Amino acid sequence: MQEFEHSPSADHKRYVRKVTLPSGKTIEVISFDDDLAPAQRELHVCPECDSQLVYPVTWEEADAARWTVDLRCPNCEWTVSDTFDDQLIQRFDETLDRGTEALITDLRKLARANMQEDVERFIAAVNAEYVLPEDF
Ligand SMILES: [Zn+2]
Repeated sequence: MQEFEHSPSADHKRYVRKVTLPSGKTIEVISFDDDLAPAQRELHVCPECDSQLVYPVTWEEADAARWTVDLRCPNCEWTVSDTFDDQLIQRFDETLDRGTEALITDLRKLARANMQEDVERFIAAVNAEYVLPEDF
């Protein structure tokens, strides 16, 4: 068994995201974030539906410190084209990087959940005698 060092820090907030699988199962995805400022506008958060999956469709440098970005929410199809300062974009970029990591974690969990479902289906099939010894 492996042991992980765990050092809870006040600077690190814990976020639990619930992901509902197509089967109706809900899994919890826990992530840690140390620089999320809820009071500030976050480009990855949809102002219409609060989805955190807003992503940039196109980026264009407006001037030395600003970017013109087309954003789209995949959840409610909200879109906007606006110019944002470099700092906000920088943070958005970091969030997107983290989002990719979170997505990979989600997919791993999803794969594991699917596997579990397969096992359950297999057990159900065995119980229902759909799988006979000669199938092996
Ligand atoms: Zn939305």
